[in-house]
Amino acid sequence: MDKPLVAIVGRPNVGKSTLFNRIIGYRLSIIEDQIGVTRDRIYAEADWNGREFVIVDTGGIVFNDEDPIHKSVTQQAAAALEEADVLVFVVDSSCGSSPLDYEVAKKLRGCGKPVIVAANKADNDNRSWDSAEFYELGFETLVPISALNGRCVADLLDQIVAAMPDRETDGEEEDIVKIAVVGRPNVGKSSMVNAILGRDRVIVSDVAGTTRDAIDSLFEHKGKKVSLVDTAGIRKAGKIQGSIEYYTVLRAIRAMERSDVTMIVIDGNEGLRDGDKRVAGFAHDSGRACMIVVNKWDLVTDEAIKEYADSVRAQLPFMSYAPIVFTSALTGKGVPAAVDTAIDICAYHSMRISTGELNRILQNAVDAHPFSRKGRELKIKYASMVEVKPPRIVVNVNDTKLVHFSYKRYLENCIRKVYSYEGTPLVLVFRQAKKERGGR
Ligand code: GDP
Ligand code: GDP
Repeated sequence: MDKPLVAIVGRPNVGKSTLFNRIIGYRLSIIEDQIGVTRDRIYAEADWNGREFVIVDTGGIVFNDEDPIHKSVTQQAAAALEEADVLVFVVDSSCGSSPLDYEVAKKLRGCGKPVIVAANKADNDNRSWDSAEFYELGFETLVPISALNGRCVADLLDQIVAAMPDRETDGEEEDIVKIAVVGRPNVGKSSMVNAILGRDRVIVSDVAGTTRDAIDSLFEHKGKKVSLVDTAGIRKAGKIQGSIEYYTVLRAIRAMERSDVTMIVIDGNEGLRDGDKRVAGFAHDSGRACMIVVNKWDLVTDEAIKEYADSVRAQLPFMSYAPIVFTSALTGKGVPAAVDTAIDICAYHSMRISTGELNRILQNAVDAHPFSRKGRELKIKYASMVEVKPPRIVVNVNDTKLVHFSYKRYLENCIRKVYSYEGTPLVLVFRQAKKERGGR
């Protein structure tokens, strides 16, 4: 756990998202094929030479469109500076440096964190040589790359990994349920943290987390040790003016990475906003156990809140596995139950199904609803759960082209009928089984 956070910054159109996709594309063969995810990804786990990290395309953090570009780009850089371990500053070598590059450079310079300049669009040798002009931005490490064709991206990744802080040892992995409380500003995260810590027995408050600046609180809930990750950050977030969105997003990503369970807090008195959906999207991408906490219950009637829950379900179709609980951080109503739920879903998150059992469930599913196309029938050869947290199931089939999106969902539902896996995203990966002898 606690993977370094690598943030890609830079002005628009320099190729940040192309680079992001290229970096996670190296993992394409093993990347999860998650059901129902159609959003753009701006955040993903990646690894290079065995070193795992989290990468964020800060250009993709959407926010107030009314802000002028120069303001948003520098705010994005400032937020990344605060939260990230390594910064990749992308510039465009095909059109040379721009005043906005210098503004970003000014923000990043002297920050004490590693900044690597990626001179992008260096699609050929000439462009690579030209990109030396970007040394004027004042950073030591510069790598000419082409995110589009992949040129020297491996060199860039070598530099990124070399710049990462030393691996921190987590110590012994104690049996602690680690919870990240996330949500857009003013939904009541900070109040929720206070409500939880005010009721349960706090063992250690404000212990320094393994990550720089992160402060966690450890408490006991019904005999179980629970930790609220980055308590200090949650309390502070509301007070930051200006680029709130960037900070909250990056902080949330960081906290989620260090936790088992993500509590997505939303305001029950307001409709679901785009910001809520975005946060839920990140939480889903993180692969953590997720729950939705509808807060400010005291302001709403029970009927209205039920309706609200239905609309939340409809608007977050990719998160149908997440339980919805209701709380009032103000009165404390529902707060202990929310912690109960967090503990429960944490257990599911690491639950394994034996290979025999898994194959039985899937075989029964296929037998009950066989699927064929153009006279060819889908057959499941063998399935196994290769990982937990979240559970990843590799299913070897006779022909991956026969596995339609809706059929995947059907298989997932069949598994969930037996093991609810409440709160846990199930990752199903379909692989082509080796051809049988004599087979076509
Ligand atoms: P962002 O706004 O910084 O995320 O930039 P995008 O990734 O959306 O890229 C902006 C444009 O630059 C797109 O048309 C890309 O195809 C193009 N682009 C990105 N990387 C390269 C590259 O390495 N070489 C060339 N020639 N074009 C690139
Ligand atoms: P954060 O920005 O998500 O940390 O939100 P805060 O915890 O700072 O809460 C924002 C505002 O909502 C504050 O004025 C709180 O008093 C209020 N608030 C938080 N939880 C509740 C609740 O359950 N009921 C009501 N009525 N107000 C709440």
